[in-house]
Amino acid sequence: MSPYVAPVASTETLPASADVVIIGGGIIGVAAAWHLARRGISVALCEKGVIGGEQSSRNWGYCRQQGRDPAELPLIRESMRQWETMADDLGEDVGYRRTGVHYLAADAAGMKRFEDFMPHARAHGLDTRLLSKAEAAQALPGATRAWAGGMVTPSDGRAEPALAAPAIARAAQREGAAVLTNCAVRGLERSAGRISGVVTERGTIATQTVLLAGGAWSSLFSRSLGIDLPQLTVRSSVMRTHGGPDVTQGGAWTKKFALRRRLDGGYSIAHGGLSTADITADSFRYFFDFLPILKDEWRDTRLSIGRRFLESLKQKGTWALDRPTVFEDCRVLDPRPVAATLEAAWRDLVAVLPDFAQVEIAERWAGYIDTTPDAVPVISPVSSLPGFFIATGFSGHGFGIGPGAGRLAADIATGAAPCVDPAPFALSRLSRRGRARG
Ligand SMILES: Cc1cc2nc3c(=O)[nH]c(=O)nc-3n(C[C@H](O)[C@H](O)[C@H](O)COP(=O)(O)OP(=O)(O)OC[C@H]3O[C@@H](n4cnc5c(N)ncnc54)[C@H](O)[C@@H]3O)c2cc1C
Repeated sequence: MSPYVAPVASTETLPASADVVIIGGGIIGVAAAWHLARRGISVALCEKGVIGGEQSSRNWGYCRQQGRDPAELPLIRESMRQWETMADDLGEDVGYRRTGVHYLAADAAGMKRFEDFMPHARAHGLDTRLLSKAEAAQALPGATRAWAGGMVTPSDGRAEPALAAPAIARAAQREGAAVLTNCAVRGLERSAGRISGVVTERGTIATQTVLLAGGAWSSLFSRSLGIDLPQLTVRSSVMRTHGGPDVTQGGAWTKKFALRRRLDGGYSIAHGGLSTADITADSFRYFFDFLPILKDEWRDTRLSIGRRFLESLKQKGTWALDRPTVFEDCRVLDPRPVAATLEAAWRDLVAVLPDFAQVEIAERWAGYIDTTPDAVPVISPVSSLPGFFIATGFSGHGFGIGPGAGRLAADIATGAAPCVDPAPFALSRLSRRGRARG
């Protein structure tokens, strides 16, 4: 079942042309559209379903700097600057609150992971600090167990996934962007080796610059253009409550459960570690690309084989652009939540915070997280197709970094000075030739 996402009225008329066309109306696509439109660049964003309907409305809502790959730290700092002023900039509250997110460790091995992050935090001027046993106990008042310690970055926060991408999309519209929903992109038109247009289900938009921000669909779309983008998806399940005890105003993460206070007073709750990998044809296609990360994560990943596998075998790599495509067949990717994972999270939460036993679960859902082999996103031009740019693969932490990633994507797509060094996000690091070069 899809969680609520605030509606965005589609721009009615498909523009005949645009300086930039964006494929995908998740937080990355809408943030890029907003930054472009504010610069006076004509932009059309095409979303096959509804704005924010996939990952961007299904996530936990953490906007965190801590625990990230060091390569992402300049970009997340830029994003946090944007979150801080977003309510004023957009003219509406997207639920951003600077609350910190408490990470709690059960044992010394867990603490070691937090300690390993500290040199990076210091190098990038973050206010991250480790928590003693006593400080960790205060993070979740009423907890029946002790923690070995924890980590917090007071300048981290949380926001409402149901509100953020739609609010940014509406702001982009006010700045002149065309935001088209129920408007799947089928493919590109090319002439003389360059892009000349984007073919949508509602007609063609003439353009020379395209930004693909297609989340879990980016690899498939890229493959239809002959671009190799190693990407796999994992299914992650979430539930939300009606209200709950007053244990945190922000978020808390443990290996067994994670929770985030919502604007409506309830909590979004998930398992802190477990996710499900649905086997598809891509699992075999990209097996060796992902082998190193699988070695680290296999204990926390449940494999599942079913309908999605059969569908992926039937999925062609290229298709005709004059008839409906898979993007029109699936307007909103809405996977079934994994009951056993949510039950385990709830059991552990109630064991640690018994007051939750009285709390009603209002809703459960799941989302497909798009991952890259190194869990760092791709925000990059594509050398084999001038004018084509990709911003995808946010590997389960693209909500918080979305505003900055949208700005960086807007910068590189228009040749503006990039807000941070884009080198760590280059597609070439993942391509087979790039890897062979080391
Ligand atoms: C359960 C869960 C928990 C998470 N928790 C967090 C968290 O706490 N903090 C955090 O920072 N991140 C979190 N994430 C990750 C975060 O949600 C994503 O990284 C981020 O939302 C990705 O945004 P996106 O715009 O790239 O993709 P999406 O939001 O998936 O948007 C992609 C859009 O592209 C559209 N599209 C694709 N192909 C086409 C096409 N051909 N034509 C038109 N439209 C197309 C899709 O319909 C979709 O709406 C979580 C994710 C999940 C699922």
